[in-house]
Amino acid sequence: MRWPPPHKIRYSKRAKNVSMRIYAGSGLEIVIPERKKNVNVINFLNEHRNWIEKHAQQFTFLLPNHSDQKTLPEKIVLTAVNQSIEIHYRPINATTCVSYRAVKNKIIFYGAITDFSVCVPAVIHCLKKQAKKQLGELLNQLSLECHLPYQKLSIRAQKTVWGSCTAKKNIQLNYKILFLPQTLARYILIHELCHTIHLNHSASFWKSVARFVPDFRAQVKLLRKADQLLPRWLV
Ligand SMILES: [Zn+2]
Repeated sequence: MRWPPPHKIRYSKRAKNVSMRIYAGSGLEIVIPERKKNVNVINFLNEHRNWIEKHAQQFTFLLPNHSDQKTLPEKIVLTAVNQSIEIHYRPINATTCVSYRAVKNKIIFYGAITDFSVCVPAVIHCLKKQAKKQLGELLNQLSLECHLPYQKLSIRAQKTVWGSCTAKKNIQLNYKILFLPQTLARYILIHELCHTIHLNHSASFWKSVARFVPDFRAQVKLLRKADQLLPRWLV
């Protein structure tokens, strides 16, 4: 394989040690603690060459296909809430910037649309708004159904966290849940609602999850690979 392999670097305030992970769609990611910014990445890769080469096949397969950014999607399907967003493009040659207008389930981009990557930040902004509304409605509905009240919902955009719940019963959900199958999204929301009574993953916590999601084990398993269900331009 090509050496050093293609990789992305992410700096983290929380990480203590340099680590790496393979993500579906985005390939090899090296996480570097902020305080170890000067670490020699090539040395790190060389030290872990065996591990990387062992997983090489999987990882070549998962490497991002940059041509994906060239395709301009006309529609973004939000499977979890059974909705979609239409995207229209109005390229303007005389400008170097990109602007957009979002109306209900439609986003119109104007300007220097070279590829989809220039549109992604605006799309994410709109998706977060959608998530607040649509996942909020779903959460309210499930909260009533399960008799598990919560305080407040906020929408986040973490890389690996789908949801969380605080001792004050405030729930945070990742907007990317919008792209997951309905059953999986329902499981995540119920998982967080059950944390309003059990702030841990004890046996009693899982017992209450099982009351509402009898096949929760299958959902947990599916969730581990859920980033593969996300659109390539997002990961
Ligand atoms: Zn949990």
